[in-house]
Amino acid sequence: MVEQSLMARLPKVDQVLAQTELHDLAVRVPRSLVLQGVRLVLEGLRARLKDGQAVPPQDLTPAVVAGLAAQEARRLARPSLRSLVNATGVVVHTNLGRSLLAEAALKRLAELNRAYTNLEYDLNAGARGSRYVHVAGILKELTGAEAALVVNNNAAAVFLSLQSLAAGREVIVSRGQLVEIGGSFRIPDVMAKSGAILREVGTTNKTHPRDYEGAITSDTGLLLKVHTSNFAVVGFHQEVTLAQMREIADRYHLPLMEDLGSGTLVDFSPFGLPKEPTVQEALAEGADLVTFSGDKLLGGPQAGIILGKAELIERLRANPLNRALRIDKLTLAALEATLELYRDPQRVLDQIPTLRMICRPHAELRRQAAALARRLKALNLPRLSVATLEGASRVGGGAMPLAAPATRLVEVAVQGLSPTRLEEGLRAGDPPVIARLEDGRLLLDVRTLVEGDQEVIVQALARLAS
Ligand SMILES: *Cc1c(COP(=O)(O)O)cnc(C)c1O
Repeated sequence: MVEQSLMARLPKVDQVLAQTELHDLAVRVPRSLVLQGVRLVLEGLRARLKDGQAVPPQDLTPAVVAGLAAQEARRLARPSLRSLVNATGVVVHTNLGRSLLAEAALKRLAELNRAYTNLEYDLNAGARGSRYVHVAGILKELTGAEAALVVNNNAAAVFLSLQSLAAGREVIVSRGQLVEIGGSFRIPDVMAKSGAILREVGTTNKTHPRDYEGAITSDTGLLLKVHTSNFAVVGFHQEVTLAQMREIADRYHLPLMEDLGSGTLVDFSPFGLPKEPTVQEALAEGADLVTFSGDKLLGGPQAGIILGKAELIERLRANPLNRALRIDKLTLAALEATLELYRDPQRVLDQIPTLRMICRPHAELRRQAAALARRLKALNLPRLSVATLEGASRVGGGAMPLAAPATRLVEVAVQGLSPTRLEEGLRAGDPPVIARLEDGRLLLDVRTLVEGDQEVIVQALARLAS
């Protein structure tokens, strides 16, 4: 049979390894992976021949097999967690790592992780100290909170708070706030795991102060407000304000907590975005405890920040669970450096990538889109067509779901490739480019591009369209 004779012509592993291409590659890629690459390619060819598929004899030469094996070895050697180009225009993209760190935070991370630190060492006393002091002071300074604690993420912050303050007791929450955040964080489930008992009040669209009051018994441990950050209710709708909840909490001597979710220290409404309650406002309106994420609108590393009354924070800190949810030193380093930037309200918008991207002026986005389109057209590839158009970005991270800040998009099409195939091709690149598919069109939103990304996009499209 033809396959049999071709099978006999498959080169031997050693023959392929001896090819110059693989010999040279072995300097950069571990030999074990080069060998694995060769084996994978040979196995693939053997399977195709067995299957009776046509394989041209010239595809079986040691040089051709070595070329494929080199590609395979390079793929195997690539780290699993890689940087990519976010051309979606979703600033706090949870799947793409949420916030990029500010330069100052990156610098601090590198410095403090190359050296020993006073992570849990009190330099004045010359004795064991606490890791939490490093950010508690600046958090209090920036927000007016009495005390602060940071944990691994906001899910942990909510869990630790409920467990510490309300295990075995009832927590009253409006039905309209029993939200699910992406990635399986559901308020009712977290509540159940914490040992607190959920007491839902009101209806999906309307909750009144009397609903809370009617539910309060001697079993009530906490009043909880959850910021419904990732969806919006429009129309016939009423929520009880934090100030109203404060009055009720005072009357019945109950603690009041707000899970702010995205939690911002900056009011974005001057930038044409919806007015979101800031962390400072939530505290001033009377929340005894406020929790929010470090890597959403704050623009820092993954963390869960808990602010509020010293007596409550102390109960959280002393909970043995806190040890299991604690923040690591890499995060602390990046978080402290990020928070320091907030001391200068003018410059912070420029220095923290998340804030800068959210507030980018439209004229700047237009200029950048035009520049990208110009570079793509300059490739002079007949199959590639490029246009710029108006569009809308999203804040992401479950924050401001209705906000659609105006942006400038670059639409690209490649003759002979459907938009879906083009999207796949960009995603398969190295580094990958994540674009937006909308109404059957492939769109690049320049809002979330950082330095060097334009070049990556130009090269990726040059490859796909030539
Ligand atoms: C995002 C979010 C959380 C979870 O925060 P992580 O930092 O992802 O753990 C909890 N509650 C709300 C309201 C959120 O928006």
